[in-house]
Amino acid sequence: MSQKSTLCLIGLGSNEPWGHHNSSEILISSIYSLRQNNIAVLKISRFYKTPCFPKGLGPDYVNAAVMVSSQLDAYSLLAVLHLIEEEKDRTRPKRWGKRTLDLDLLAFGSHILPNLQAYNKWRYLSLDLQKKVVPDRLIVPHPRLHERSFVLGPLMDIAPDWHHPVLSQSVEQMFSALGSQLLEELLPL
Ligand code: ATP
Ligand code: CA
Ligand code: CA
Repeated sequence: MSQKSTLCLIGLGSNEPWGHHNSSEILISSIYSLRQNNIAVLKISRFYKTPCFPKGLGPDYVNAAVMVSSQLDAYSLLAVLHLIEEEKDRTRPKRWGKRTLDLDLLAFGSHILPNLQAYNKWRYLSLDLQKKVVPDRLIVPHPRLHERSFVLGPLMDIAPDWHHPVLSQSVEQMFSALGSQLLEELLPL
């Protein structure tokens, strides 16, 4: 009996080279690794140069997003994303520090994981606390998805009609709500 596949959105980012590979090459290689792990990559956004988040904390990023279809559950999919990050020697010395590769599970179909209460706890966390505390479990949709131009810009390329299951807004609506300054920071490569 075939297992059900889920359409998922994954955010990719890099602002540190890995060996002699630059950030764009690392993202391309990580997309290849997704395929090697039996994850079907259906759509790939353009690559964007974006300022480091938070500002001034490091070099510019290259960001992108992909739409995949997978038979894995969300927790197993995140484990694969972590393995691919490790392949590129991703380390986490400090919160939001420089990284060779960051893979975030932005959306898993229209699921809210582990539940609405946990999602809301992370969504409404003050910026001050966001700098200090890190979720110890998977939260989906990614709690910062709706406020980041470097996430919504790439998603506009591949999934403008995806609806946020909690905010009940499409990617297009969330993107339009971003301030003009955030939009100017998004440079397609
Ligand atoms: P941010 O989550 O604000 O983009 P970050 O990507 O730099 O920050 P990481 O250090 O990569 O944060 O991840 C911190 C923890 O977040 C990881 O241990 C991971 O398990 C957890 N996590 C929770 N929800 C998600 C998600 N939707 N996608 C990826 N990681 C998540
Ligand atoms: Ca991230
Ligand atoms: Ca991450």
